[in-house]
Amino acid sequence: MKIVALTGGIGSGKSIATQMLSSLGVPIVDLDVIAHTLTAAGGALVPQIATELGGEFITEEGALNRPLMRALIFTQPDARVKLNAIMHPAIFDEAVKQLAALETSTYVVLAIPLLQESQRYLPYIDHVLVIDCDESLQLARVMERSGLSAQEAQQIIDAQSSRQSRIAMADTIITNNAGLAEFEENIYQFHKNYINTCIVSK
Ligand code: ATP
Repeated sequence: MKIVALTGGIGSGKSIATQMLSSLGVPIVDLDVIAHTLTAAGGALVPQIATELGGEFITEEGALNRPLMRALIFTQPDARVKLNAIMHPAIFDEAVKQLAALETSTYVVLAIPLLQESQRYLPYIDHVLVIDCDESLQLARVMERSGLSAQEAQQIIDAQSSRQSRIAMADTIITNNAGLAEFEENIYQFHKNYINTCIVSK
């Protein structure tokens, strides 16, 4: 089994790319999905977060209160360190478990939003697929989807690793500057070529 890391900046089109690859039959292990599951109502990390960061960050339903926690870690770097120390090892363990269960697949997509900040995954990765789009489009898409102001959206983009450093890690770059039909075609071409490479190198 080969592992393709799928990454890209906020609003670049990662989720759409992941959905397209999934509908082509590629198994997906998505760190965002794992993070959400671990912190949803009844999630495995909720008790530890309550103990270490405070019960006020847990909703009545027993889930992590994301907006409240986001506000906290935005203003308190210590809280961010604490939360990361709880979240990152657990996400990693779960991702490795899910990958192990997919061992008989030809290739698996490991969706990692922030690859540069996720060094522990690098030894597992065979191929880095970066979804890239122009920053002006990224900004427009983030604003449209989330209702953030241009300044807020720009702040998030600026807090992420640079486009150049993402591109420097890429084995394949798929640009998402045009319409969805073209993007889908490029994803399909990648899938077809990559699966052939896997079969040839077996
Ligand atoms: P995030 O990092 O926030 O999870 P993402 O990289 O997963 O973002 P998507 O959610 O796939 O990005 O796309 C961001 C937004 O831009 C979505 O609302 C999506 O519908 C829109 N979008 C993405 N690609 C295109 C495109 N080629 N044409 C039009 N809209 C697009």
